[in-house]
Amino acid sequence: MSILSKCESYTRAREARENGLYPYFLNFDSHGAGTARLTGGRDVVMCGSNDYLGLSTDPRVTEAAATAARRYGAGCTGSRFLNGNLDLHDHLEQELAKFFGKPAALVLTTGYQANLGAISGLCGPGDTVLLDKEAHASLIDAARLSRADVQWFAHNDTIDLTSKLDRLSQPSRTLVVGDGVYSMEGDLCSLPELARVCRAYDATLLVDDAHGAGVLAEGRGTCAHYGLTDEVPLITLTFSKAFGSIGGAVLGDEQVIDYLRHHARSLMFSAGASPSNTASVLEALSIVRSETWRCDAVVANADHMRQELMALGYDVGASCTPIVPIKIRDELSTLLAWKLLLAQGVYVNAALPPAATPRLRTSYTAMQTDDHLRRALAGFAAVREQLSGTPARVT
Ligand code: PMP
Repeated sequence: MSILSKCESYTRAREARENGLYPYFLNFDSHGAGTARLTGGRDVVMCGSNDYLGLSTDPRVTEAAATAARRYGAGCTGSRFLNGNLDLHDHLEQELAKFFGKPAALVLTTGYQANLGAISGLCGPGDTVLLDKEAHASLIDAARLSRADVQWFAHNDTIDLTSKLDRLSQPSRTLVVGDGVYSMEGDLCSLPELARVCRAYDATLLVDDAHGAGVLAEGRGTCAHYGLTDEVPLITLTFSKAFGSIGGAVLGDEQVIDYLRHHARSLMFSAGASPSNTASVLEALSIVRSETWRCDAVVANADHMRQELMALGYDVGASCTPIVPIKIRDELSTLLAWKLLLAQGVYVNAALPPAATPRLRTSYTAMQTDDHLRRALAGFAAVREQLSGTPARVT
């Protein structure tokens, strides 16, 4: 058995393709936060985008990207550490620190790399990384890379967290890690309780706010939503969602950020965020600041859809954010529901184990009009009927 034998025996994706039930790597010609066009010309209502504020296609953002590419080039062709640092990166760091209310920020090339850099840069043998059971894959990978002892506590369960900390000989050498908004369930982390436990044990808390930043608390994210930004020493961000671009950041105290500048390998050994990405995030940030109606609109659209989906009889789990899962009993029914929705002109994401228990991951944006939401709900109602044989009512 060679390393490559597993590829030969991997048939799951091929079988799904053959059965017309393969939901991944679909091609889009255009990718809006309200509607999108699939290659081949079909328009769909987009209920599966992370472009929560509709900024990825905002002309001010795309123009900032184009201008930066013309001025600085298409890439920075090296690590920021050596030869790829731009005034744009430094400027973005200052603006992020100001906006999110932290002393300093470090910009990395993706959110994934921000998590890798922060966790593996700060933790090592002899330390413990204690992750929420639902923490994002990048946080798990980061913890494993760090060579610290990796443990889990039950989702949002501070009693379990406390008992795990109690068993450690040096609980203060622990990094407690969770998402701000959980990316598959759409629920919030129990930040007040987590912060209280971390304080009691002198453990350090890291919150990955990929899905809260730009959305909650007029864009300032989950920690600001709870009024607890000062209580969270490390916050990580991504720019691939509400900020409509690509990139990531770590926010924290000056000394910590300076340490990471010299110890985060995903920063030091990978090229810096491109000029166009960095400039587009700067522009997106200034729009988030000045156009707070976008945050209100995304929350209102999601609230409306959550209520209506529940009224149709769907199980939307514990969602209270723009991410609204629709729990389906098994993998096959999930793929079937995904396909039926697409046939109704509604695009959602199918999530399967090991990423999550089977579900459709739906998400909502500020760009969806009443008409988009009505069309989507008509599709959800029709599919509910097809799946259960019970007629559903749409208001
Ligand atoms: N953290 C969370 C919670 C995420 O959902 C994601 C992206 N799915 C990331 C980190 C990684 O972000 P990026 O796309 O910038 O690598």
